[in-house]
Amino acid sequence: MLSEVLRRDTLSQAGRARAAKAKLQTDVERLLERQGNALWSLFGDAVFAVLVASSVAWGLASIGHYKGWWDVGSFLGENYDRDGFCLAHKGTWYESQLLSMYGSVILALVLQVMVRSLAANRGELLVVDGNTKSIISHGLGHGVLHYLSVTQGGLSRSEPLITRATPWYVAAGLLLSSFGLFFDLLERTEFPPWLKTTQAVASALLVPTTVPLIMARFRVFGVTGLIIFFNVHLDRLLHGLDGAKDRYYALYALTQCLSSAAMWAEPYLCDSLLVKYGGHVVFDYSIPLAFIVYLAAASRMEPRKAKAA
Ligand SMILES: [Zn+2]
Repeated sequence: MLSEVLRRDTLSQAGRARAAKAKLQTDVERLLERQGNALWSLFGDAVFAVLVASSVAWGLASIGHYKGWWDVGSFLGENYDRDGFCLAHKGTWYESQLLSMYGSVILALVLQVMVRSLAANRGELLVVDGNTKSIISHGLGHGVLHYLSVTQGGLSRSEPLITRATPWYVAAGLLLSSFGLFFDLLERTEFPPWLKTTQAVASALLVPTTVPLIMARFRVFGVTGLIIFFNVHLDRLLHGLDGAKDRYYALYALTQCLSSAAMWAEPYLCDSLLVKYGGHVVFDYSIPLAFIVYLAAASRMEPRKAKAA
């Protein structure tokens, strides 16, 4: 009887020791994970802070150039300054705007297929879901612009894209694609609904109806880049990636540098390089490619365990 009690006691002591050891191990693992996440969080924050600053600088450079506060003509180069963006292979079926239309549709579909096959229920991967519409509407918007430039013998430098003389179906196409682009991008931020909707409607109405797409001293893309990138990057910086700041957040931040780098490279490298090779598509393709690269890399990483902000 006594030996039986002693045996049970020894067994339960061993069990308790095992449980304590396991708990210590879990605590250490959690601590290491928390420390790791803190580093990734810091890294992601730093990258997103630079990206937010970059989008503000881009918008201010455009507005200041327009207002005459400074002249960034030498940075923009001859072709970008004249056309409003880097327009390559003019007069061909593979002109920049048409390439943008074909490529955006193809890359958006590739992204959608990848989301379907790789993301499953992983919130950290599903963050790229839903970009398809805005990428396609961006591409189709370029198709409409190309149509306008062909039928009207070039885009006006003094009038906005939509005037009273614009055929209703062209105006409707431009407004719809503009709204689709802004709304879709802003809708996925975690800002309050009123802020998202107001910004999307205002941008969709104001950008095509008030500013010429190309004008020696004003670039609609400066404002568009500011509205979109400022919102989406600031949203990540404030709210994390699907509510958490970990290595997925850091990876996402890193891949988002691709489109910001392309945004700056397009004017800077236009005359010397891009006007011969694709032009504006470098920027347009960089947007879906950044999501594709993120998804390809992140889907190979161990799934996120739980939300840890
Ligand atoms: Zn574009």
